[in-house]
Amino acid sequence: MDRLSGKVALITGAGSGIGRESAVLFAAEGARVVCVDLNEHTALETADLVISAGGEAIAVTADVSSDRDSHRMVDAATEAFGGLHVMFNNAGIMHSDDGDSQSTSEAIWDLTMNINAKGVFLGCKYGIPAILESGGGSIINTASFVARLGAATPQVAYTASKGAVLALTRELAVVHARQGIRVNALCPGPLRTELLMNLLDTDEKRRRRLVHVPMGRFGLAEEMAKAALFLASEDASYVTGTEFLVDGGIASAYVTAE
Ligand code: NAD
Repeated sequence: MDRLSGKVALITGAGSGIGRESAVLFAAEGARVVCVDLNEHTALETADLVISAGGEAIAVTADVSSDRDSHRMVDAATEAFGGLHVMFNNAGIMHSDDGDSQSTSEAIWDLTMNINAKGVFLGCKYGIPAILESGGGSIINTASFVARLGAATPQVAYTASKGAVLALTRELAVVHARQGIRVNALCPGPLRTELLMNLLDTDEKRRRRLVHVPMGRFGLAEEMAKAALFLASEDASYVTGTEFLVDGGIASAYVTAE
């Protein structure tokens, strides 16, 4: 199937997890992919994965929290592939020093907001004109189920940053709805990726998190990539402004079965 045939897709955080799986899947569906990551080595690795599977990709090293870098990554996409149709603002961090309002430092708050919230804003700021010039497209912003639910093990900066992503997504969806740009948020549940596994670094911590997931397992980056592909493609032609939960049921659970 070629659900993204003829499309150019820029993916941030493409060096790992959801971003890497999405780069590979989007390319398999016909997209030319711009793999953006802060980590030069992993961005190149992802681009190589795409190319060795027969796809087209370039790697761009960029910090999404930098205005200059965000502008540069979009320019790199249009220069390499002549346009931009899909912008997947997916890069994000979850800092181990992010806690409750007393324990979280201003520095951790600022760092988290800069990457997770401002990074998405900058991606949209520079991505939208390029998408408009290319005749329209789809923006997917990675939020999280935590933007919808409070947790007794808090990460206030992370949670607030993802709440900002939902609000920004909603507003941009409304602003650009008649210009052929759909804007949606992807809200993953807890995943078996480096980001969360580094934090839940013991079996006991993982078990305690899984108690809340009706499906009783962590999600996979591939499962998020499939959801992102749906939002990126024409299959989602009437879908905009949504908070697309892909979370094993966690946001619907009050008490889970044994
Ligand atoms: P990951 O850590 O595997 O990948 C994140 C990638 O983003 C890394 O390659 C990292 O180098 C890159 N990155 C970090 N800061 C960057 C910056 N300033 N500029 C450019 N790239 C940067 O994580 P993942 O699980 O694939 O997470 C992807 C997104 O999904 C994040 O926004 C995360 O908050 C969100 N999310 C993850 C989970 C989970 O359980 N893993 C749950 C909900 C939401």
